[in-house]
Amino acid sequence: MNYQNTLAYAQEQDQNDPLYHFRERFHYPQVNKQDAIYLCGNSLGLQPKSAQMYIDNEMYKWANFAVEGHFKGEEPWYNYHELLAPGAARVVGAKEKEVVIMNQLTVNLHLMLVSFYRPESKRFKIITEGGAFPSDQYALETQTKFHGYNPDEAIIELFPREGERTLRTEDILQSIQEHGEELALVMMGGINYYTGQVFDMAAITKAGHAAGALVGFDLAHAAGNIPLHLHDWDVDFAVWCTYKYLNSGPGGTAGVYVHERFANDSTLPRFAGWWGHDADERFKMEKGFKPMEGAPGWQLSNGQILTMSVHRAALELVEQAGGMEALRTKSEKLTGYLEYLIDDVPVGEEVLEMITPRDPQARGSQISILVKQNSRMLFDKLMEAGIIVDYREPNVIRIAPTPLYNSFEEVYRFSEILHECLEGVVVK
Ligand SMILES: *Cc1c(COP(=O)(O)O)cnc(C)c1O
Repeated sequence: MNYQNTLAYAQEQDQNDPLYHFRERFHYPQVNKQDAIYLCGNSLGLQPKSAQMYIDNEMYKWANFAVEGHFKGEEPWYNYHELLAPGAARVVGAKEKEVVIMNQLTVNLHLMLVSFYRPESKRFKIITEGGAFPSDQYALETQTKFHGYNPDEAIIELFPREGERTLRTEDILQSIQEHGEELALVMMGGINYYTGQVFDMAAITKAGHAAGALVGFDLAHAAGNIPLHLHDWDVDFAVWCTYKYLNSGPGGTAGVYVHERFANDSTLPRFAGWWGHDADERFKMEKGFKPMEGAPGWQLSNGQILTMSVHRAALELVEQAGGMEALRTKSEKLTGYLEYLIDDVPVGEEVLEMITPRDPQARGSQISILVKQNSRMLFDKLMEAGIIVDYREPNVIRIAPTPLYNSFEEVYRFSEILHECLEGVVVK
């Protein structure tokens, strides 16, 4: 790309951007009585304006039909999750019966581990990325303990080579091969939350299966960020949240994918609830759990209709924008522009170091910078200037330009303000 560090260039890119007008469909937080430059969609996506109407509709049904809302009207709550399956399946590259929207991310991760972490004699270990998101670490730690293992023995964490920031695919594959016979599960993020590195999910899945292990991914930072092909990659299971790149609200509902080869597998252990029971017989309230086919068979409770309605509004925006491929096309350009502008800031690696991969295929809509001097001060100055990004201890600032609501001009303005804020931060 022949990027240029000028406002005119950024504005021209916006004029040629087919997704530019999607900006108008979101609410922007205000800082100094102006729309903030919001580059934090990796943490909490902005609110789609349509979300209010979708929630109001369900509030109306509750007010006017009350319990009858479960069965009455065009979109009864009884099978509301089915309305979300087609859009969710397209986001993660799965068949409809392979996905279900329910619960929250960490809950779903535990449910999947109950079914797919089945350690036995020699084969009891889990390979995962070192420094995974804490919730994932705690889930793996407590699941191994639940089965009577010492987490320090059962969990193998992979770290980058000395002097490197991200994992090499060859090293991941080699570890999987080396630990082959002891391995029960490979469980990684699809994208590492800290560095923004995209893992080669197809290659990891293939290697895991070749070693005789099952393979699952936490797609918290991948769903809605990059195109995914879970079914074609042959991934066994995956989980994701919807409040990051999928803009579905704080603590919003979450997703689960289970490969169709398990759709009718009654030998899998699972923690069941009535909403996963055969829908035709659910209200007979009889003894004996009979799971629904596919991912819906893992449901526990009746659906969280209010947050699911917000997710519907948000998924429709993804569809209207042309789906994940269209978002990805813009995202690569926008993130590349951000990278170019940060590189153009005249401070050296002793001040700012980009820890996100340089290869556009190995990252999504996120650039993480390691700030080696006065990092907190820089972050505070950015926030005061109306830039919303996020700070991760000990000294990383994550910047996420998202294709649905960020513009090239915003990325340009960010770099200008970054430049200004660095004055007084850099120790001369
Ligand atoms: C955001 C995130 C979580 C958060 O889990 P919740 O159950 O939604 O609170 C967990 N894991 C990863 C990898 C994340 O990025």
